[in-house]
Amino acid sequence: MTSSTPKEITEMTGISAPGPRDALWPNYSPPNDLVFTHGRGSELFTADGEAYLDYLSGIAVTSFGHAHPHLVAALTEQAGKLWHLSNIFRIPAAERLAQRLTQSCFADRVFFANSGTEAVEAGIKAIRGYQSATGHKDRYRIIGFTDSFHGRTLAALAVAGNPSHMQDFIPLDYGFDQVEWENLAQLKKAIGPNTAGIVLEPVQGEGGIRPISAAFMKQVRALCDEHGLVFMLDEVQCGIGRSGKLFAHQHFAVTPDVMALAKGLGGGFPVGACLTTEAIGQTMVVGTHGSTFGGNPLAMAVGNAVMDLLLEPGQQQEVQRKGEVLQQQLKQLVERYPTVIESVHGLGLMIGIKCTVPNGDMLEKLREKKMLVGKCGANMIRLLPPLNISDAHLEKGLQIVEAALQDFQDG
Ligand SMILES: *Cc1c(COP(=O)(O)O)cnc(C)c1O
Repeated sequence: MTSSTPKEITEMTGISAPGPRDALWPNYSPPNDLVFTHGRGSELFTADGEAYLDYLSGIAVTSFGHAHPHLVAALTEQAGKLWHLSNIFRIPAAERLAQRLTQSCFADRVFFANSGTEAVEAGIKAIRGYQSATGHKDRYRIIGFTDSFHGRTLAALAVAGNPSHMQDFIPLDYGFDQVEWENLAQLKKAIGPNTAGIVLEPVQGEGGIRPISAAFMKQVRALCDEHGLVFMLDEVQCGIGRSGKLFAHQHFAVTPDVMALAKGLGGGFPVGACLTTEAIGQTMVVGTHGSTFGGNPLAMAVGNAVMDLLLEPGQQQEVQRKGEVLQQQLKQLVERYPTVIESVHGLGLMIGIKCTVPNGDMLEKLREKKMLVGKCGANMIRLLPPLNISDAHLEKGLQIVEAALQDFQDG
């Protein structure tokens, strides 16, 4: 049997031929006519050289912009030496990156994964593994919060408990419980003899940019201490300098026992990490967990290069300064365009604008004006510019946002 080419099918049926994107699962819906070929700093370019201002950063991933010379050099230098080993052999760059991460926060031990959801998954296993190894096999249930997002593996879906993500994939009781965000009474009630730990995002991302209150953060820590629970933070989006501190929980003077990282850690190269205290990390002995690619030399070379940039003096202060400028100016726009946007929330360079008009319309309007942003829950758009965005591009972004608001106001 010979198969017809797409062109022949069109001629025979009059129905337009399937394009190359029809070979992919239809689980994403990128705009059809916008394809980027390269990027530099805070800008992305199409083949015909049209520039777009990138306030999305591949969803908080390309935190030092596109084609940063230090990151390109680290990756290409490593690419000429050694790509992959597996963890059957020591990977010195992984040991170095783990050491640098643990020296920067509460953690003593690190497991490297390839993505955020894998880092979360490792953390969930570490919570249960630790409870079991310390004589609490009956403690397996994990509490998560509404409007959370922790990734797309089954356990990550279950702990976030978003019904629209879970349907068809997760049985009703998978050992996870959900509590309303910041509802202390509900949280206390949900803790039982089988509870092993609590997981939350210090700044919720996908659910709508929402920083946790310092009071609630402290209360969760205290409850974990009181009941012998493991406190895990998902800093996949808000960690790695995004919030204006190296890790978002460092705003709150509270430390977790487990922390998942990914997104910004590789500056665009896929990498995730699960950080734990010594007590928890040491229970994850040979055979408990692993990954073929996790901690691979390419990822580790880039991760160390990202750390070089993150640990430069004044880096976090710069993110705080730019975040404050952006928030302050956006709040003025809320006052001037109250029929279009209603509020601004965020921490550092993780900023959400709650829209009155549909957020999808706002996203498209900004894209027409050559500015890329993200959407998130609660009818918000999300601004996640590169951490090293220039003041000129910060100003340009604000001008584009204002022009879009003006368009909506003019109807
Ligand atoms: C993106 C995200 C994840 C999932 O990361 P992937 O790399 O897509 O698997 C998990 N948690 C949070 C908070 C995220 O923002």
